[in-house]
Amino acid sequence: MARRGGYRYNTPMDLPEIPRRATRSVTVGGVIIGGGAPVSVQTMTNTPTAHAEATGAQIDRLARGGADLVRVAVPTRADTAALGRIVAEAPVPIIADVHFHVERALEAIAAGAAKIRLNPGNISDRDQVRRVIDAAAEAGTAIRVGVNEGSVVERTAGARRRSDLARPLADLMVDKLAEHVALFEAAGFENLVLAAKSHDAYTCVVAARLIAERWDYPLHLGVTHAGLPETAAIRSAAAVGALLCEGIGETIRLSYAGDPLAEVRAAVELLCSLRLRARRGVDLVACPTCGRLQMDLGPMVEKVRAELADIEAPLTVAMMGCVVNGPGEADNADVAICAGKGKAVLYRRGQRVRTVAADQIVSAVVSEARRLAGEQ
Ligand code: SF4
Repeated sequence: MARRGGYRYNTPMDLPEIPRRATRSVTVGGVIIGGGAPVSVQTMTNTPTAHAEATGAQIDRLARGGADLVRVAVPTRADTAALGRIVAEAPVPIIADVHFHVERALEAIAAGAAKIRLNPGNISDRDQVRRVIDAAAEAGTAIRVGVNEGSVVERTAGARRRSDLARPLADLMVDKLAEHVALFEAAGFENLVLAAKSHDAYTCVVAARLIAERWDYPLHLGVTHAGLPETAAIRSAAAVGALLCEGIGETIRLSYAGDPLAEVRAAVELLCSLRLRARRGVDLVACPTCGRLQMDLGPMVEKVRAELADIEAPLTVAMMGCVVNGPGEADNADVAICAGKGKAVLYRRGQRVRTVAADQIVSAVVSEARRLAGEQ
């Protein structure tokens, strides 16, 4: 009989964990990527990096939300000039995202970035890459070689569109990656994380599988330019979730347009859902609503979620709309309500506590959950 989180009975928690692919480990500040370490969550700030205060505040927020690593863009000298302060004050290791200028990479390494991300499609001069490798080796900085579809398509002779490509995009991205891995290995640099991203989820899956077959460097997963949260969430969960279920992927970033905290929360939820990260706080089980529902439960669920957001103890709270599934969920939850017409039955760990009026449901669930959290 399982007892993990709030569950007490034979539940899916009894399933075996997903076996992970064996990889080398890469140390990024205090975070280990690969080598059996927990899958880490990363994201990217959207403030101008040169604004050290605003960027630092956003990094703090993202770290509190569950980000293990935060990446900042460094397109200008002003950005790398601010990086030293950002790195020194950040609660998590900072990764510098370098696109066109090798000087930015060198400045970011000198400023203490724990890792830099290079796009081989944008810095292809071998001597320039070699300078970065030497500086990173000297400083102990990790490097992610991250290919994406844009750089491959634009640099493929005559092909300006994906449909012009003679070979599948995933193959082309992995070939481009191979050129650069060879360059790094020839220089004796193996402190590498690899990535190949597309906006197309399935291409990401195919490319990651090819990389995982070929190298044992840790793999960074994500769907790039995935769009607005509605589509980005689905595309990212489809690709990253599928790969994680195959044991592939050592660090993940879900890319959304908008507040990066949303992508961190979604990435954490994805890892918790696959049991690759222990859930902290409340696991909220909620009625999806149907024609049996006799009260407006959705806003109550939202209120309960907001009011219990600060609880760190693992608790399962179920808010069910009727007797069809309500008692079953109540049985397996720490706190549950099973709603009816104008009232609901409140349960504590499967035991019926009392009936509460509709306008008392939120306060009753919140106070019961807080009481149990205080006992843990
Ligand atoms: Fe419908 Fe009841 Fe299920 Fe809610 S819990 S979706 S009301 S059957």
